Amino acid sequence: MKITVLGSGTSQGVPVIGCKCKTCTSENIKDKRLRASVYVETGDSKILIDTSIDFRRQMLDNNKTDVDAVLFTHHHADHIFGMDDLRQINQRLNKYIDVYGRKDTLDEILKTFRYITDKELIMHKCVPLINLKIIENKKFYFRKTGITPVEVLHGRIKIFGYRIGNFAYLTDCSFIPEEEYVKFDNLDLLIINALRLRPHPTHFNLEQAVGIAELFKPKQTYLTHITHDLMHNEINSELPENIQLAYDGLEISLKD
Ligand SMILES: [Zn+2]
Ligand SMILES: [Zn+2]
Ligand SMILES: [Zn+2]
Repeated sequence: MKITVLGSGTSQGVPVIGCKCKTCTSENIKDKRLRASVYVETGDSKILIDTSIDFRRQMLDNNKTDVDAVLFTHHHADHIFGMDDLRQINQRLNKYIDVYGRKDTLDEILKTFRYITDKELIMHKCVPLINLKIIENKKFYFRKTGITPVEVLHGRIKIFGYRIGNFAYLTDCSFIPEEEYVKFDNLDLLIINALRLRPHPTHFNLEQAVGIAELFKPKQTYLTHITHDLMHNEINSELPENIQLAYDGLEISLKD
């Protein structure tokens, strides 16, 4: 299994428009963060988690040309606004794409992308062609790849993270209920959100995310959904080697 971090940034991205702070003006490529998403290649599928606002740029930058399935974590703009660009994959490969999410997430996505159910537009293939698949909080399979949703809180709303094999991805999380802890056993890789230094009502900050990593002890943890508060080299030099900030384009290979 190979995981590529397509975007490690919070909703505004980094640099932030007009900001002159040291992170936003940094020349380190690892301080440039597109909106949060990961691309997972398993033995039989290419799975995208969230279609970030920067989806098109991310596919081009990482030489990715195909998506078999999309797993949505939740419906916020930074995680869904790239969905229209699935059209290029629909048209070039002549296929529909299976899109998974909680019922409330998919309902919100359908409201936001109202045009995608227009029969005439579907006929002319000028909308993303997707099969909506509502999932509950229990393990399911895409082809032979087992996927376990992890139900967590993002402020007051319930959202999904996902575990695939020994990899788990959690973004926009502010609380993990104890009954979900079992899904974090024996992880080789955890990617989890760490917004900034100060606390935030709907996202873990750096200290909380590091606390989660120390609790579950995955072999490696990478932090994502990061604001310009956290400068890559500065923060990473203070963190242990097995808990580090992610960056756009980071690739991790794991045994299936
Ligand atoms: Zn977000
Ligand atoms: Zn800044
Ligand atoms: Zn969110």
